[in-house]
Amino acid sequence: MTSTLRESTAAWSNWARTVRCEPRYRIAPRSEEDIAAAVALSAERGLTVRAAGSGHSFNPLALTDGVMVDLSRYSGVESLDREGRTITVRAGTSLAEISAVLDRAGLALANIGTLAEQTVAGAISTGNHGTGLKHGTFADQVEALRLVTANGGVRELSRDGSAELLRCARTSMGTLGVISSVTLRCVPRFRLAATERTERLDTLLEGFEEWAGSAEHVSCSWSPWKDTVCSRLVNATEDAPTPGAGRRRYATTLSEVRCGLVGLVAGAAPAAVPRLDGFLSGRGSGPGAHVDVSHKVFTFPQPVKFVALEHALALGDVPEALRRLRGTLRRAGRYSPYSVLVRVGASDDAPLSPAYGRATGYVNLTVPRSVPFLELLRVVERELRDLGGRPHWGKAHTATEQVLAPLYPEWDVFQDVRADLDPQGLFTNDFTARVLGPVRPAGKVG
Ligand SMILES: Cc1cc2nc3c(=O)[nH]c(=O)nc-3n(C[C@H](O)[C@H](O)[C@H](O)COP(=O)(O)OP(=O)(O)OC[C@H]3O[C@@H](n4cnc5c(N)ncnc54)[C@H](O)[C@@H]3O)c2cc1C
Repeated sequence: MTSTLRESTAAWSNWARTVRCEPRYRIAPRSEEDIAAAVALSAERGLTVRAAGSGHSFNPLALTDGVMVDLSRYSGVESLDREGRTITVRAGTSLAEISAVLDRAGLALANIGTLAEQTVAGAISTGNHGTGLKHGTFADQVEALRLVTANGGVRELSRDGSAELLRCARTSMGTLGVISSVTLRCVPRFRLAATERTERLDTLLEGFEEWAGSAEHVSCSWSPWKDTVCSRLVNATEDAPTPGAGRRRYATTLSEVRCGLVGLVAGAAPAAVPRLDGFLSGRGSGPGAHVDVSHKVFTFPQPVKFVALEHALALGDVPEALRRLRGTLRRAGRYSPYSVLVRVGASDDAPLSPAYGRATGYVNLTVPRSVPFLELLRVVERELRDLGGRPHWGKAHTATEQVLAPLYPEWDVFQDVRADLDPQGLFTNDFTARVLGPVRPAGKVG
């Protein structure tokens, strides 16, 4: 490697500490030229390359024993266009940093998921999403990006000049190249009012599509041994922030801590789970509306490590999925401490977006790390796959190319672009080989 590149051989592991690797070279670039040099040299030396963001994916997507381009510190704003409402940032910039900068400029991102610490490129690459029937995935807010490709060159992809390539790059798991910067569309700064209420699961499922459209951002969380869910409805408001709104962000954090505690107890005394959960439920959260600036309502601090698995379903299939999961999860362990989160999203046109071509309902299972999740994963996957569910690219799943290809109508379009941009399979690892298969000559796909 050249002397301008900061490199090390330090091991890397993800946030959840469920996967780790020892790259031959781990490079922390300081410029786009550094990224290009790392890619070119890796190609020369016959090593594969994986980009890594903040490691918030639960599976081995970012792992490599070749070259890891670690972008977690490659952050900062390159430009901010207040009039045109766009921001261009380095690929490793966190959503928290972007939101803070936009906030000061009177702007905001229209919709984000629950996590603020991940990098913008990691979020784009895995099909990350928030919730709201009028909102696409996070990557839907991308206006342009710069991509360092296998030959060390840089491609500028935008909605005007290279819409087809951008469409593919918007959800590509680091397999088309290393994203060096991203331009995002913004909206004027806004506040949100969040209301939580308890509802009967069956009532919610009977009127599911109505519920899904009943607020701009809806979600519900459910413990499978209960017959009720906690439904969260969030809408834009002109109201002033609620006094103490900052503390309300921790209500969801506390319910995660609760899930973790219950998980620890469940291993030793499963029958105690409902009582313990009931006791802890009243602590720290509480119903009622609160108002705050948008990004502080969308996201919340998540200190407890867990494992998550999630599938994207056609919106209308969510009630059936939850009915099936109710039976399956109760049979798998009546008191198991899973928390099921349901969110919704608009149809997307990125070929590998889990929301491709259909209004989507996302069904996510959060499992404390103390729970043997592989067994559970197989049981849950069987139900959700049967309904045409597409796994989240950044979460735990066991799907292979054979399972995934039929779920994506433009699979071959993506594979042709991949073959064109990375004919030698420079940006691969065992996991991408499993989920996408090997790179095939362009035009010979399918
Ligand atoms: C606590 C927690 C909360 C979460 N909440 C949500 C949520 O609300 N909604 C949701 O959809 N998901 C959620 N996720 C999943 C998470 O958003 C995604 O896995 C996301 O990829 C993480 O971004 P990252 O920066 O950590 O990327 P990493 O996990 O480091 O990398 C993910 C993928 O992106 C690629 N990549 C990273 N940087 C680049 C780059 N510069 N160029 C090319 N490829 C790159 C990597 O090669 C890899 O394939 C959550 C995860 C956790 C742990």
